[in-house]
This record gives sequence, C-alpha cells and structure tokens, in this order.
Amino acid sequence: MKLVFATHNKNKLKEVQALFPKNITLLSLDDIGCFEEIPETADTLDGNAILKANFVKEHYQMDCFADDTGLVVKSLHGEPGVFSARYAGEQKDNEANIEKLLSNLEDKDNREARFKTVIALNLNDHQHLFMGICTGHILKEKKGEHGFGYDAVFQPDNSNKSFAEMELSEKSKISHRGKALQYLIDYLAK
Ligand code: IMP
Repeated sequence: MKLVFATHNKNKLKEVQALFPKNITLLSLDDIGCFEEIPETADTLDGNAILKANFVKEHYQMDCFADDTGLVVKSLHGEPGVFSARYAGEQKDNEANIEKLLSNLEDKDNREARFKTVIALNLNDHQHLFMGICTGHILKEKKGEHGFGYDAVFQPDNSNKSFAEMELSEKSKISHRGKALQYLIDYLAK
C-alpha cells in the first residue's frame, strides 16, 4: 500500500517511515510532484492537519495523512499553540522562538506545558483524526543537543532529561508525535 505523508521534509519522512510496517510505503509531497508550500491558514492544529490532507486529496486524488503540532503553555494562555513554528516571526527561527518563550515565562511560577500533535488521514473517502499529547514543563535554560524546535527547553513528565537529551527512539516512545503516529499505525493495521 502507498500512502502520501504531506511533508516536504525528507528527514521527517525517513523518521516516520521507520515506524511504519514494511507493507506501507510512504510518499512525500515531492515524490508526487507537489513542490508548493500548502498554506496552513487554520487557527487550530486540527484545522491545519485537515487543510493539508484535503489539499492532497483534492489536487492529487491520493490517500494521504498530514500532521500539525503545537506547544501549549498553560500560563501563557495556550501560546504559542498553532503559531509554534513562527512564534518569534515568519522566519521560523527555532532559537528566536525559544528566546521569546523563555522571556515570556520569566515572571511565571507555573511552567507547565504540553505538546499536541494532530494527524488527519484521508483514506478511501473517509477522514479520521488521531491525537497525541505529551505533558511536561518548560526549563529555565536550554539542555541537550539533539532534536529541533523547542526540544532543548521541554522536559516531559516522569523524566529528568529534556527532549534534546534523548535519542530519537527514546523520544518517540513518549512524544506527542510518536503517540499520534502509533494510533494511526494501529488503525491502518486493523
Ligand atoms: P510541525 O507542525 O511538526 O511543523 O511543528 C510546528 C512547530 O512546533 C515546529 O516548527 C517546532 O517549533 C514545534 N515542534 C513540533 N514538534 C516538536 C517537537 O517534537 N519538539 C520540539 N518542537 C516541536
């Protein structure tokens, strides 16, 4: 079975393909000849995942799944949320995003946060949504060298390591994206 994963990111595709059973081959957007950035204009994670999955269905008539992830910080009223990639501006700079987050949390006692991933799957004319959540807190300073995004300042509950101090396989077992993907894989295996 072939399934499109609505991403241009070859590394993300490789990581996700490694978690999938061998009988499912994932195709990236580039693999199906889609070279444009699909607009992520919805104001929720679910909305953006659905937008991307529907774009592929509409323009390429192929079964597809798309994901969207956000970091939700309690004392910042849910920020950066759906704007996680461009929290500090359209240049989507990870370092600037972390700086802005740490600065906004400077005077806050409550540093609780959670990552949320939503996956929208369009399969055989039906749509399904899968969600994964990882709860934790925002550290006062960066720790660790692995990963991307906010990994260096996010420490999941029941761990003494930040995401950036974990190997990818360790992170995937407990992460928002790992959980949402496992729900998707279990569903496809039914
Ligand atoms: P995306 O929907 O996977 O592109 O994620 C949107 C933004 O959320 C990214 O640009 C990162 O800033 C942040 N993000 C998503 N997943 C993670 C993660 O696993 N660790 C750290 N930051 C993440």
